[in-house]
Amino acid sequence: MTTKLYFKEVTIFDGAEFFRGSLTTDGATVTRIVRSGEIPDGGNPTATGEAVLVMPGMVNLHTHVPMTLFKGVAEDLPLKDWLEKRIFPLEAQFISREMCRIAGQWGMAEMLLAGVTAFADMYFFEEEVAAAAKEIGIKAAIGEGVINFPAPNGLNPDETIAYTAELAEKYKDDPWIFPCCAPHSPYLTDEKYLLALADIARKYRIPFHIHMAETRHEQEAYLKQLGKREFVRFDELGLLSERFIAAHSVWVDEREMDIMATRGVTVAHCPSSNLKLGSGIAPVAEMLRLGVNVAVATDGSASNNNLDVLKEAQLAAKVQKGTAHDPTVLPAGEVLKMVTSNPGKVLGRSFGRLTEGGGADIVQVHFGSCGIAPVHDPAAALLYASSPADIAAVWVNGRKTVEEGRILTVDMTALKKEIDRLSAAVRRAL
Ligand SMILES: [Zn+2]
Repeated sequence: MTTKLYFKEVTIFDGAEFFRGSLTTDGATVTRIVRSGEIPDGGNPTATGEAVLVMPGMVNLHTHVPMTLFKGVAEDLPLKDWLEKRIFPLEAQFISREMCRIAGQWGMAEMLLAGVTAFADMYFFEEEVAAAAKEIGIKAAIGEGVINFPAPNGLNPDETIAYTAELAEKYKDDPWIFPCCAPHSPYLTDEKYLLALADIARKYRIPFHIHMAETRHEQEAYLKQLGKREFVRFDELGLLSERFIAAHSVWVDEREMDIMATRGVTVAHCPSSNLKLGSGIAPVAEMLRLGVNVAVATDGSASNNNLDVLKEAQLAAKVQKGTAHDPTVLPAGEVLKMVTSNPGKVLGRSFGRLTEGGGADIVQVHFGSCGIAPVHDPAAALLYASSPADIAAVWVNGRKTVEEGRILTVDMTALKKEIDRLSAAVRRAL
């Protein structure tokens, strides 16, 4: 069910800048936004006053949401051991349609409560993820993972690629589900599969979502094998475009960053995952200087261990300032775009923006709470002082999904029982 909203004389962040103004919606669409003035026919206000912040729903551009089940199962391990000794065996045992639906929805609840209204996923049984997303009321850019061997979904790579095309066709006009191509990585997905997926991405104009240059070991092995760095080779293959989502991109050099900027690649920067797995620190300040579009994302809960993308953005800013020895890099206003309009550029359809005629994916924040007020700099207040507890409400496609820390769309007690049952089985297997 959708409602008409009227935010009267509030603080607005539209995904680009902060201003005082009013905003109305009609069902799933934002109808008017005016600066410093009331909208005459707005009716009774949903909320009013300077201590109300209205912002676009945030976008988490890289995650594996069913992995929420594996939170904390593989701590203090390097990526290779984390993946091969812990995650792959657990996935072989536990991935199922049911697991993807239940653990996926549990992760979606966490995201909605943190003001995230859209996420880009890469996992298996993505139609289950899609169904769970529609039920709870969050937009999902789904991508069935393509690896060189038969995946936990029971499909070989060619079958998964054919299935990706089916998903692209099935959901092409869906207001909640946005299919993507999702090859795992250059080291787990052969070039013939990458090229086949790129054809699908081109045909349906959908994103191509992949892990790139995550660890030094991966980058060095790739260079040794092909004599080139990853983005150089990918450019030769014609894989890079403005629909390309490059998760991580930690080990990239200046030439690669130039190529990324020229081709309009979007980086999904995941600082917690990179730090926890000891992968390193992506050169984000340098990427921005060279004109690369950067988004901040959480990665999956097995490596982060949470899906709060604003917290991740805060970490991104602090780590870049600290490592650059330069507090002027990544100003708060720019960092907030990395969880709103920058990921929106690759997903399209007004993700991460509040615009007239755009989607009513709206987060209302208490800007007068103890942790946040006094607000002398709204961007800094939101980035450095807020927490999910300050979120008053969340609407996605005009449907209210969150109110004061409660999910309104699904029975969370029942969902908790289901996740408890699955996690008990995981604990027995550890
Ligand atoms: Zn990942």
